[in-house]
Amino acid sequence: MAAKRVPVAEILERLSHMYPDAKCALDHSSAFELLIATVLSAQCTDARVNIVTARIFPTHNRPEHFAALTPHDIGEMIRDCGLWQSKAKNIHQTCRILLDKHRGEVPATMEELIELPGVGRKTANVVLSNAFGVPAIAVDTHVLRVSNRLGLAEANTPEKTEEQLMRRIPRDLWSSAHHWIIHHGRQVCDARKPRCSECPLLAFCKFGKSAVSGSKPKEMAAAAKPREAKPTRQAKSGKPSGTGKKAGQDL
Ligand code: SF4
Repeated sequence: MAAKRVPVAEILERLSHMYPDAKCALDHSSAFELLIATVLSAQCTDARVNIVTARIFPTHNRPEHFAALTPHDIGEMIRDCGLWQSKAKNIHQTCRILLDKHRGEVPATMEELIELPGVGRKTANVVLSNAFGVPAIAVDTHVLRVSNRLGLAEANTPEKTEEQLMRRIPRDLWSSAHHWIIHHGRQVCDARKPRCSECPLLAFCKFGKSAVSGSKPKEMAAAAKPREAKPTRQAKSGKPSGTGKKAGQDL
């Protein structure tokens, strides 16, 4: 559990002023497009995904469009996003399931979303939060790193980090905090070269103070690569499992 003295409210307040317009960086105009874009974003930049989806979505923006293709055809369309073979297979299977079980619509619950191939808690939380307005904290590489550096969490897995953030951040701020933290990770708190000396959060950040003083800061989340969590009994209940189990699906 994160240290009690971490000034969560002050950190969130400052982040809200730093990134007032923070929002989902994946271009989409429907829950389905966001689901596909998020699956494509595994180990790929949002900018690259947006280039690829700008090519695809004008003609392929419904499950029936992808289900009518072969995984190989889909792979050719998404090749630039990397991991294209597994992503193509997952997208094809996901679209079949959406048509067979959900009348072609994206389900709006964690339990149903994580049943889809290639969809774990992170992807499900992105869709729930941005497409359905459900408060959620999707833990990607930036959220994992920044929240642990700031002491908002003290965990080395996305699942535990999500669980701790949900306990410490007011529910009505979950989705906004997710975007603020991602933006901070992209713009200031870089994985290799965080710009601590010019960071407005330095006064609250033990990691940053150590870095600025020249001592070697402890990086709890440094070795943890965020991956989609395998759905567990707890995950199916909508709560993070905290088990750190992997489904072999990188995000
Ligand atoms: S002080 Fe450094 S480590 Fe802390 S949040 Fe800012 S950039 Fe990241």
